This record gives sequence, C-alpha cells and structure tokens, in this order.
Amino acid sequence: MSGNSILVINAGSSSLKFALFCLDTAGALNLAARGLVDGIGSRPQFKVKDAMGQALLERELEVTDVREVKDAIALAGLWLGTHFPGEALLAVGHRVVHGGADYAQPVRVDDTVLADLEKLTPLAPLHQPHNLAAIRALRETQPQLPQIACFDTAFHRSHPQLADIYALPWDYYEAGVRRYGFHGSSYEYIASVLPQVAPSIAPGRVIVAHLGSGASLCALRGGKSVDSTMGFSPLDGIPMGTRPGALDPGVLLYLVGQRGMTATALEKLLYKQSGLLGLSGVSNDMRLLLESAEPRAQLAVDYFVHYIAKEIGALAAVLGGLDALVFTAGIGENAPEIRARIVSACAWLGITLNQEANQRGDACISTTDSTASAWVVPTNEELMIARHALAQMQPGQAPQH
Ligand code: ADP
Repeated sequence: MSGNSILVINAGSSSLKFALFCLDTAGALNLAARGLVDGIGSRPQFKVKDAMGQALLERELEVTDVREVKDAIALAGLWLGTHFPGEALLAVGHRVVHGGADYAQPVRVDDTVLADLEKLTPLAPLHQPHNLAAIRALRETQPQLPQIACFDTAFHRSHPQLADIYALPWDYYEAGVRRYGFHGSSYEYIASVLPQVAPSIAPGRVIVAHLGSGASLCALRGGKSVDSTMGFSPLDGIPMGTRPGALDPGVLLYLVGQRGMTATALEKLLYKQSGLLGLSGVSNDMRLLLESAEPRAQLAVDYFVHYIAKEIGALAAVLGGLDALVFTAGIGENAPEIRARIVSACAWLGITLNQEANQRGDACISTTDSTASAWVVPTNEELMIARHALAQMQPGQAPQH
C-alpha cells in the first residue's frame, strides 16, 4: 500500500488509542488499522487490529518501555511505519476534550492555540493535560507534521445561549462556568450520515442517544445541536457506567461539609465509583448487568432506562416535539433489550418499536405507522476527526461526508 494517510490520536491518562486512515484515489478515508496502548506506566499492553477487527498484534510490554504518552506515540509510530511503509502522513487529528467557549471548529495547532488550550486544563483536568501531552510530544519529534485539534465540545457551540447557562450569578458564566456539552465528534458524525441513512428525518427534530461507557443525549434540529444532557463537565445528564449523571448539588455540599470529603475523593466517587457500577455493585458493563440475577443489577438497568426516557422527554420539549430517536455507541448499537425498553417508555412520543428489526439491529427499528421513528446508527468519532484533519489540509473544502 502506498499513498497519503491521516492518523487519529485519542490520548488518555494511561492509554493511547490511535487509528490510521488511508486516502484512496477517490478522496475517501479508509480505516487501515486501529490500535491501543494501555496500562501506560503500570502494565503496558499494545494491541492493533485491522479494518475488519482482526488482531494484527497483541503484546505485553515492560513498564520501562512505555512510561508516558510520548513513549506510546513513538511505539505506535514505529509499528505503523513498519506495517504501512509507503504511507505518507498528511496530518494527525487529535481528540481534545475541551475547546472552551471559543473553539467551535477543529483547528490546526500552533503555539497560540496550544497556549489557549492549556488555559482550559482546569475545566477538564482529567483529560485535557493528556490530550495536549500527545500534541506536544509529536511537536517535539516531528515539528513539521500538521496537527489538528478536534474538540468534544465544538459541535455544541450552536446551542442558543439559554442552553449554555446556569442560573448562577453572571460572573460565573463570564469566568467559564457554562454548559459546554461533550461527545461532539460522535454527534457530528451521526448528523453527517443522517442525510444518507435516514433522509426523511435529517432536517427534522432528532434526539441522538450516545450510550457507551460515557453516555449523553443530544437534541438536533436540522443537524445542528440545540441542547444536550452533558453540561460543564462530562458528569451531568443521564447515568453512565461509572458516573452518576445529574446529581443534586446538595449531595456534594453534604459530602464535603458533613462527611469531610476532599475534592480528590469526590472526583473518584463521581468519575469512577458511581453510575451502573455504584448502583449495582456488580459491574459497569451493561452486558454483565443484563445477565445478572442480582436485584441491584436489575435496579441499575431500570434506573438507566428510566432516566434516559425522562431526559428524552425533556429534550423533546426543547425541540417542540420529536421526529426521530437515534441510538448509537456500545450500548445503543448492541443492546436490543435496552433500546426496546427506552422506546417503550417513549411510546407517548409516537414511537412504536418494530421488534424484529430491533432484534436484528436494522437501521430503522420503528414500525412504518410510527409517527416518530427510531434508528440505530453506528458512530465513528475517529473517522469524523480524520475527515476534519484532512479538510484542514485542503483549504476551502468542508469535511467530506
Ligand atoms: P466508550 O467508547 O465510551 O468506552 P463504547 O461506546 O465502546 O464505550 O461502549 C462500551 C459499553 O458498551 C460497554 O461498557 C458495554 O456496557 C456496552 N456494550 C457493548 N456491547 C454490548 C452488548 N452486546 N450488550 C450490552 N451492552 C454492550
């Protein structure tokens, strides 16, 4: 294989996910390989799969081999260079969690952009430093290589101001305490494919349910985000694998004031120990909860469905009605039982489930006489980022969908 390619990087605290997309002669990006280095600094493992999901590499590494994200990038670069020797890297697209109030579009990183993004670290201390460490590491070793930052928050900058504010004194809004919204690359990808997958609903009022380990809902009008369940941080909204979703702030006041919990302990509780895991005491994995006979596993699933249905109602009110509900991400794409239960709770919105289509995981899972429809559309955040990175290298061209 020889030609041009785009590398997508998603760097976390102890893991580096990457995907290589090759540009074909028609200008389309095709996945060549997807990889993961996790356990960075503890028990590193390196895995790569091809476009069909077949393992190309699975290797345990010594902790001294991969101490930090820049070692993981070097490792991935070496492997990709050996396996795709003819590929010339046009650009690297990075998932960056926070673009703040100003970055409503992906941007090519230079010194000014990097300094701006570093200022946003206090808004996303668990993710932003790692996203930026990957950018910095590549700038050191390959300063000429264009790097494009794509933000989880950017797609939501089309929200009206009402959906962007909290009822706090105005100074807090000015200081950055606002509803940013997340999972933007996923929602943007879904909005970009709806005109082909479901042309009748694409211009209308659509709620997308991104149900993965992190989970949120987004209200789209004409393909633009008008509201979403995540706010200032990725903690708000519907319950998730290990995050509780919306929580009365009075609970936090109580935990800090009466139980003496520190910010670090709260962070652990809210990001790692709550949600499906905390409620069930069994697992954060929906597959295990659905198989479990534990009553609290059932309760956790019931709560998940109940809260999502409740928030769908809220977003339908924002949209003034609903034309379609779209399921995506790990649970949304793979759990027919959860989809069926959510759709059943949304019957009042005019959606009737087509049971067989739902079991098969068809694109359209509602009956033909449903007044609002339901869909399953696989997301592809990496491809969305790759398209943006490519578009930045082809000025004047919008990302190809
Ligand atoms: P993320 O990218 O946020 O890590 P994913 O979108 O890959 O998450 O979703 C991961 C979650 O999807 C898993 O935790 C698991 O609960 C759920 N999941 C995956 N496959 C299935 C399935 N067949 N049935 C139920 N849940 C599933």
